[in-house]
Amino acid sequence: MCARALIYLEHLKGNIKSVKNRTGEGRLICVPVKADAYGHGAIQIARASLEAGVGFLGTATVSEGKELRKEGIKAPILIFSQPHPDDIADIIRENLTPLVSDIDFTRALNEHVTTANLRFAEVLGSAAQNVKLPVHLKIDTGMRRLGCNADESLDLARFIASCQGLELTGTATHLAVSDSTEEQDIAYTKTQLEIFNKAVSSIRASGINPGIVHAANSGAVILHPDSWFDMVRPGILLYGYKTAEENKSPSDHYMNLKEYAPITVKPVMELRCAVTLIKKVKKGESVSYGRTWTAEKDTFIAVLSAGYADGLPRLASNKWQVLIGGEAFPLIGRITMDQCCANLCTDDMKTLPNIRRWDEAVIFGGQASDTHSAAALAEITGTIPYEITCNASRRAGREYLK
Ligand SMILES: *Cc1c(COP(=O)(O)O)cnc(C)c1O
Repeated sequence: MCARALIYLEHLKGNIKSVKNRTGEGRLICVPVKADAYGHGAIQIARASLEAGVGFLGTATVSEGKELRKEGIKAPILIFSQPHPDDIADIIRENLTPLVSDIDFTRALNEHVTTANLRFAEVLGSAAQNVKLPVHLKIDTGMRRLGCNADESLDLARFIASCQGLELTGTATHLAVSDSTEEQDIAYTKTQLEIFNKAVSSIRASGINPGIVHAANSGAVILHPDSWFDMVRPGILLYGYKTAEENKSPSDHYMNLKEYAPITVKPVMELRCAVTLIKKVKKGESVSYGRTWTAEKDTFIAVLSAGYADGLPRLASNKWQVLIGGEAFPLIGRITMDQCCANLCTDDMKTLPNIRRWDEAVIFGGQASDTHSAAALAEITGTIPYEITCNASRRAGREYLK
């Protein structure tokens, strides 16, 4: 047995409930399932989310959206990243909802839809059935990635409204520092929201319905109630990791965060592997590539069936601990592609602890405590929990627990 990721779908559902409790029953939730649902498996996460009453899914690419449709998922799917013109036929066929940032691409979408409508009418010999593709207008309010500039947003909204083949069903922006409790970052987020509010108001004022208005990622669900609008799009939070602590906010303006239900989330993924061999290592002998660890006294080590190709970062070599039978044992020597080693004899242990070959070891997450979370592992390896879960289990395979 190699490494495997256990996916606690009940934790996901609990996390969805927690977000719902905080943001209010009537508010829509879009579950980002991009990058194979942050490494958790897009299809299963999408299904479980829909079961939990979520109405929208988000992917980065058109091909990710197509995968979901192939599995019979009918919910609206927002395409967060900018699609390539070559993807337009698929967007229309699969009824995906692109976020549009500019007139050129929007025009190309519209031309494809209207051409398809005409062809449809020709074949049926009837009046053109005017199918409209839903699109969301994306406004750049300070992220400086996708989205039109705020001062161009009304023009783009007008252009969309003038398109026969398109329907404006939403208007969105993305926040750059919503997870930070630093005063200047809170101020930056407020400025982004001001710019967004103004743009949405002028769209409304010109008689165009902006559709579902949305902005909040995980950080904003925790820290910025005024970003919740009609729908929230928290990713990492739904997978069980808080990007900020609401009670750490220094700003007076956010004292009222206490009025909202507290957010408790549980990690959805738990990465496990097996003890494949237990062996004696004598004082002075080294373990693994590069000989970065040498036994100071005779000891027993466990060889484990997980390496960096399974999502245990090599940078965690000699820094991380795994749980075996609920007890923590330090990883020693370099983590290799497929395997790593744990020292079974801590200083005060004279005999081999009660661990047997083929026992399972928890690498991170799931039911394990905070000290064994993907966030803690991310911290010691200089990254974020997103990258840890995304990298986990590509080879390992996943097991879904209901
Ligand atoms: C990935 C993504 C999110 C979710 O971000 P988290 O930080 O995981 O909450 C929300 N919106 C867009 C546009 C995204 O690309």
